[in-house]
Amino acid sequence: MTLDRRSFLKLVGAGAGAAGAAGLPMIGRAAELMPKGAKRVVVVGGGYGGTIAAKYIRMMDKSIEVVLIERNDHFVSCPFSNLYIGGIIKDLTPLTIKFDKLATNHGVKIVQAEVTGIDPAGKVVTTDKGTVSYDRLVLSPGIDFRLGEIKGYDAAAMEIMPHAWKAGPQTVLLRKQLEAMKDGGTMVMTVPLSPYRCPPGPYERASMVAHYLKKSKPKSKLVVLDANPDITSKGGLFKKGWKDNYEGIIDYRPAKKVTEVEPGKMTVLIEGLEDVKGDVINVIPPQRAGQIAVAAGLVGDDKNWCPVNPTTFESTKQANIHVIGDACVAGAMPKSGYSANSEAKICATNIVALMNGKETTEMSGINTCYSYITDKEAVSVAAVYKVAEGKIIAVPNSGGVSPADFSAAKMEAIYAESWLKNILTEMST
Ligand SMILES: Cc1cc2nc3c(=O)[nH]c(=O)nc-3n(C[C@H](O)[C@H](O)[C@H](O)COP(=O)(O)OP(=O)(O)OC[C@H]3O[C@@H](n4cnc5c(N)ncnc54)[C@H](O)[C@@H]3O)c2cc1C
Repeated sequence: MTLDRRSFLKLVGAGAGAAGAAGLPMIGRAAELMPKGAKRVVVVGGGYGGTIAAKYIRMMDKSIEVVLIERNDHFVSCPFSNLYIGGIIKDLTPLTIKFDKLATNHGVKIVQAEVTGIDPAGKVVTTDKGTVSYDRLVLSPGIDFRLGEIKGYDAAAMEIMPHAWKAGPQTVLLRKQLEAMKDGGTMVMTVPLSPYRCPPGPYERASMVAHYLKKSKPKSKLVVLDANPDITSKGGLFKKGWKDNYEGIIDYRPAKKVTEVEPGKMTVLIEGLEDVKGDVINVIPPQRAGQIAVAAGLVGDDKNWCPVNPTTFESTKQANIHVIGDACVAGAMPKSGYSANSEAKICATNIVALMNGKETTEMSGINTCYSYITDKEAVSVAAVYKVAEGKIIAVPNSGGVSPADFSAAKMEAIYAESWLKNILTEMST
């Protein structure tokens, strides 16, 4: 392997030193030069997929150097951000992780930088702080939005009609708007056509908003404009939960695709025909793989998502680049944090095998998605996954959804909380 020694120093080593006083691009332990002949994996994205891939590669093979590049110095979890919007969690602190223990406990080299380009032929990643070469690259950049599909929805519009589909300032903005809304006001939420990040996420959000309105602004309403013909996940459970708890508060309208917004008038337009006004408007736009994956030519014919080998998660478009999490096409596995975690472990195992000239391991994936209906009740969907005829499928009878009578809902709310604590701890220690 040709070690790009000067560039690596520039990014990780000299960069850390030079920028020490001015906000450290590298927030992990001091940089070391790689020993001659050593191998390097670069991981892009410090979220649900990236942290786990970086950590597990190091846990399985300490001779592989792992550099994790993330644009922020922290990560805020989307899972449970709906509870914050509904006023059940008071701030985002319990949803926020840092990366320092991945460095001290596992020797992952953490670089805070924006990845701006990938050269698959030269095996080099370019960032706003310098370049770094790799033997293998793992991308877990999450999603970006297909803004061209909603006329008028630009960066300025997002500050008026937040999406809150990447947790952080947008989540706080939506909560503030909801708190400021008068009793008797209307919140409008738009849901894009599937596939998008977290299939049950919009319906959990509707439940949490309705919970808040019922408690604090009982004359108010939530209109859900769903581009899909029906609720895309746990439909029966959400419908029962809404009927039992939020009748007259949630006005669910299927097959209503929002194609235009007018922030000045606080209006959204459905296929250019019907307009709907709101006091608070939450636009969840159509989505695709994170921009860096698109720019690197990793998306498939749909131009949105990255096709991968279902056993190694190596891109079918570019050799030595693996794509995990929301950005990839993982067959029956939903775009969830738990899926990203599971994909990361499979990918890490097989990267270590490939880099050591060993056989890859059969894919076995898992996912559970909990959704809160009230502050004390949650429902779930779970499955185990395997590869059959080149595609990831759910193992028949391996999972299912919660009991329809909500008999497990109180227990499931407790399981959900424990799930979050476990997965965030796993990502950050
Ligand atoms: C409201 C809501 C609720 C949800 N609830 C659940 C739930 O209960 N359970 C569940 O399992 N899932 C849930 N999800 C889905 C979950 O958040 C995602 O599926 C998960 O985050 C995907 O992981 P990822 O690694 O692909 O992307 P992310 O976790 O988004 O990580 C991507 C990271 O890459 C970084 N990045 C991107 N591009 C660059 C670049 N060019 N340079 C540097 N860094 C970059 C980003 O800053 C980010 O930190 C929910 C989602 C939402 C929106």
